[in-house]
Amino acid sequence: MIAPGRAKRPGAAQPVLDPPSPDELAVCPFCAGHEEMTPPQTLVLPEAGDWQVRVVPNLYPALERQEVVVHSRRHIRSIAAASDEELELVADAWRRRTADEPGNVFPLVNEGRGAGASLTHSHSQLIWLPEPTSELPSPRGEIVLERDGIVVTCPWAARVPYETVIAPFEAETDALTSPLLGVALQTVAALVRRLQELEGQVPLNVWLERSKADWRLVLFPRLNILAGLELGPGIFVNTLAPEEAAARLRGG
Ligand SMILES: [Zn+2]
Repeated sequence: MIAPGRAKRPGAAQPVLDPPSPDELAVCPFCAGHEEMTPPQTLVLPEAGDWQVRVVPNLYPALERQEVVVHSRRHIRSIAAASDEELELVADAWRRRTADEPGNVFPLVNEGRGAGASLTHSHSQLIWLPEPTSELPSPRGEIVLERDGIVVTCPWAARVPYETVIAPFEAETDALTSPLLGVALQTVAALVRRLQELEGQVPLNVWLERSKADWRLVLFPRLNILAGLELGPGIFVNTLAPEEAAARLRGG
């Protein structure tokens, strides 16, 4: 349900973050030099020299196996601040951990406390689910952009402002063997940079949906707090039309 009258500019009052405090840096287990603060790594990339991306078991797994992929050795607080090179390595880390431990791997990014992140240093999680996720409906929406084999759309049925789908232009069977995964993550980072220009520091979730026939990343900004109407009957009152969201993401 699109109800643009409810808010002219969703989230326009989101504050810009202060730089990290010395305390935040001192206790961050994901910064280079703090490797002893995490369980032993399951993978680092590159394998020789200074690591750029590091994978460690999640200390508090909700499911049987859950791992954290640290996106940078630098203390960056958003995927938007990760370099293209780092994101290519993140894609490689997702690929390699899935190849080493096959299963129904569900990769996701929680960014900002309002989106469920408990640590500020940019990271993703790999969660081995007991069952495969369900089949994907075909995505239809307003095209934001196309680049390097990837198409970005704001779905007609967007549940929240700026919900965006990042998918291969031609359907592919598996993201976790696809050479396009790195480009897809770089595209997510570029979209988040644009989103931050528009709305400030926005909590957000990103996840990978996979089926036998197709895959896509979903970028789900958390400008609105989800409440009973969303969580109960699943009725999302979106204050920003997808056409308008696509135009704003395109601009600039
Ligand atoms: Zn850090």
